[in-house]
Amino acid sequence: MYFRRLGLPGQKTVVSHSMARRPLVDLAHGAIIEYRVMRNALVRQVREGRKMVEEVCDAHYDLVRAAKGVGRPMGELCPVCNEAELRQVVYVFGEKLSPSGVCPVSKADLRRLERRELPVTIYAVEVCTSCRFNHLLRKWHAGGVGEQRPKVAK
Ligand SMILES: [Zn+2]
Repeated sequence: MYFRRLGLPGQKTVVSHSMARRPLVDLAHGAIIEYRVMRNALVRQVREGRKMVEEVCDAHYDLVRAAKGVGRPMGELCPVCNEAELRQVVYVFGEKLSPSGVCPVSKADLRRLERRELPVTIYAVEVCTSCRFNHLLRKWHAGGVGEQRPKVAK
């Protein structure tokens, strides 16, 4: 349910349930909003049988493909299936970027996007490539350098 349709070509960007909730941290520019508490609560619900595995293991094919291709290993086993290491996938959204988001392939690529003149919103998602568990890890804002520092006239 989380991020199943976020950033996929040809589809509208869908705000996941967790993203739609009130953030834990003030949305000031540069603040990082962590979703770990919500994620852990969700995993607990699955373990206690209060939530169906199918409800949390529904990563879209493209998200799983991104996790396999450019996802960064997190050094943590999937809390649902315990079969595969979780992978982190990052999506960057902003003006003049693809409406389906940009998926940076390296840290340098991400840093470059974070330093854009135009503001961006960045989402980090964890994905299990085995059972398709997925959840938003954190969200932050970056870029907007051009708005903060007026260009120096030559
Ligand atoms: Zn899994």
